[in-house]
Amino acid sequence: MRRIALYCRVSTDNQEKAETIGNQLKDLYKVYNKTDVVKVYEDNPGSGADPDRAGLWELRKDAQKKLFDVVGVWASDRLARDLKLSLILRDEFKELGIAVEIMGKEREDSEMGKFMGVIEGAIDEMERARIKRRFISGRDRRMSEGKLIGCYPPYGYDHVKRDKEKGTDAYFKVNEKEARMIKNIFKWYLELESIFLVTKRLKTKGIKTRGKNKTGEPNFFFCSTVSRILRRETYIGNHYFGKSSPCVAKFHISKIRKHRFTGRCRNPRADWKLIKVPTIIDEITFNRVQAILLRRAKRRARKSMYQFLCTGLVRCVRCHRLYGGKNQRDSRRDKDFFLYRCPQANTASFNEPDCRARTMSAQKLDNAVWVYVSELIRDKDRINNNLALTKKKRESEKISNQKIYEELLVERKELKMKKSRLFELYSDAGFSKEDLKIKIGEFDLREKSIEDQIVIKKRELEGIENMDAIEKELERICQIYRKRLNKASLN
Ligand SMILES: [Zn+2]
Repeated sequence: MRRIALYCRVSTDNQEKAETIGNQLKDLYKVYNKTDVVKVYEDNPGSGADPDRAGLWELRKDAQKKLFDVVGVWASDRLARDLKLSLILRDEFKELGIAVEIMGKEREDSEMGKFMGVIEGAIDEMERARIKRRFISGRDRRMSEGKLIGCYPPYGYDHVKRDKEKGTDAYFKVNEKEARMIKNIFKWYLELESIFLVTKRLKTKGIKTRGKNKTGEPNFFFCSTVSRILRRETYIGNHYFGKSSPCVAKFHISKIRKHRFTGRCRNPRADWKLIKVPTIIDEITFNRVQAILLRRAKRRARKSMYQFLCTGLVRCVRCHRLYGGKNQRDSRRDKDFFLYRCPQANTASFNEPDCRARTMSAQKLDNAVWVYVSELIRDKDRINNNLALTKKKRESEKISNQKIYEELLVERKELKMKKSRLFELYSDAGFSKEDLKIKIGEFDLREKSIEDQIVIKKRELEGIENMDAIEKELERICQIYRKRLNKASLN
């Protein structure tokens, strides 16, 4: 009696919704006796290119335990749609003495059979690429025809999905409750002419956003959200796709993250794809709001009469936000005051209580910082002493790091020796293949962690070497500033 395992997979792709696990099983049971089947493995849905599918993973694990003699599939692409993966699986099952059958027929183990297998795998891979292309081109086509595609709708709308059976396209439906709120926001802005005051009114009326914060509760509006709502052209019926594209972020630290497109850059307006949607705001109101926004932005830009020295360098003791510079006008005395304060003092976020941390006179703080820094630069002895101290510390760090680095190298060498000895033992039939695989796995893990540590230590050592250059640069800069200081003052 043959023990049979069945493997079924339903693609993640929408185009193939017609095939279900049920259909595949029905066909397979026409070929196999139900009594012979030991287990059915499923991936629903699972991508043919993904080697970590849960069902496939289980199948491979049970194959190692030799729980069955035959794997039955409905089509060759069910196991893998990727040439490399399909070859790996084929070899793996063959080694365990398990036959792979497609609808009850085993692939021949002749040269021709192998060749056919490879070709089938290649065709499966090509098919996958074609599906992907078809998906992308279909999306682009629908977009350039002015039709809506799947997306997270802006505040004020619900997204109604495309229904292929009825032949209807996706569209935005106005969410009456949210639309009323948007109308209020526009009305209040015309009345108050301030995004901050509008946001404050939303909070006092207890109105919250649609999104959820970490605790699963909706937030109160942020000023930035209200600002975005006021500028959103979707509300006058023009919804755009392709406003921005992924790009490498401006502040991308490649040491921490892989070089990927983590940023967004704005596309020229000519490339945006327009989609007509139902309106919420009439065009006259919208244009009036835009005019006010522009006017206020201009006024804001003019305001910087005083250059704050320490903006973003002072941190609030209570809420740890960075202090910003603020220009406060005393109209009675016709005088300007400049001060630093915590942004939450005047409600940067309506979701947290106001911060009662103290403000600081800008002139006083700037003066103190200026005096301290300028004296520090002039004080040659102090800088030299500090440099000598860091040099000493660095030397000791270098020695200890060097030692750890060398120890790691020795450990790696020993591990490699042990590993090769393991192979010798195995060839002397000291233990089974399974044991060898497990042991090798353990060694590989250990080796990987040592490799990682070696890389980190090496980088640290290089960093210490670089400190030399940094110190030289520091001395040079100090000299330049000393020269400049003779002429400069804070005011
Ligand atoms: Zn604060």
